Amino acid sequence: MSAIYDRIALIGLGLIAGSMGLAIREHGLANEVVGTARSAETRAVAVDLGLCDRVTETAAEAVKGADLVVLAVPVGVMGAVAEEIGPHLAPGATVTDVGSVKRRVIDAVAPHLPENVHFIPAHPLAGTEHSGPHAGFATLFQNRWCLLVPADGADEAATGRLRALWQAMGANVEMMEPDHHDLVLAVTSHAPHLIAYTMVGVADDLRRVTDSEVIKYSAAGFRDFTRIAASDPTMWRDVFLTNKEATLEILGRFTEELFALQRAIRTGDGQQLFDYFTRTRAIRRGIIEAGQDTDAPDFGRGTKRT
Ligand code: NAP
Repeated sequence: MSAIYDRIALIGLGLIAGSMGLAIREHGLANEVVGTARSAETRAVAVDLGLCDRVTETAAEAVKGADLVVLAVPVGVMGAVAEEIGPHLAPGATVTDVGSVKRRVIDAVAPHLPENVHFIPAHPLAGTEHSGPHAGFATLFQNRWCLLVPADGADEAATGRLRALWQAMGANVEMMEPDHHDLVLAVTSHAPHLIAYTMVGVADDLRRVTDSEVIKYSAAGFRDFTRIAASDPTMWRDVFLTNKEATLEILGRFTEELFALQRAIRTGDGQQLFDYFTRTRAIRRGIIEAGQDTDAPDFGRGTKRT
């Protein structure tokens, strides 16, 4: 495949940027991939693993001469990174991010970018519970969605080029408006993560009572919760702090439904439980039919995909 960008700068070299670096290099999508991360250790690992062609000590250095800059740090630090790189960006460059929340990232990043740069926020809906430079793999984005969230009037050619990059990494690309993105993700990802964190926390409290039987006899439902609840604490703290309204809205609805089911259990309303579970089963079938998961016995979790 021919190069889509001349030089891509990856700011942050963890799971997402590492996977991008590997995919970009494997498919020859850029002539050069430059990377940077906060710690010297991550930068050294990135070179060892070939996540990029070279690393720089600072983000300001990394973006020099790059025609695409990817912000792949926790959402809470996107604004600070944008402030650092703003004065060093090449005229005409595209800046994108991969943050799990869009409105707050846009508000934090946009004010620091010069007018002669295109800002096209993005969010690949792909990940695992692993983080750091060792966690990346080139096929992470295969058959996963990547949502592009360009502002009204964004440059069409720049948007098309970023779309082409994600498609070349195997993703299916769609456009979305930032507030809608944050609400959809609150339902499909953010609230479920909080519920998993809570369930594992409750089980951990119980474990002290049951003398580790919770771990020993851990069944499929709980094991899936523990996998989700092993996700990176920094990333998820930032997601909840920056997608506050939408997450609270969904958790409010969740609590109401939970109370209704709790009541059905207490009053012995089997019909309500049966009807509810029949409806939710259809949703699971829809996800499998849409190719976003597998119905293999272990949900295909032997592979690295989520
Ligand atoms: P990660 O594996 O934890 O990597 C984060 C990277 O950011 C590391 O290279 C880290 O450097 C750097 N970093 C952390 N704090 C920093 C700071 N204060 N200043 C500068 N650099 C800092 O994270 P990830 O999973 O790739 O996530 C990156 C972004 O992608 C996040 O915005 C997240 O919301 C989004 N995202 C994640 C997933 C997922 O499932 N994980 C999916 C889609 C989108 P050091 O290693 O040197 O500390």
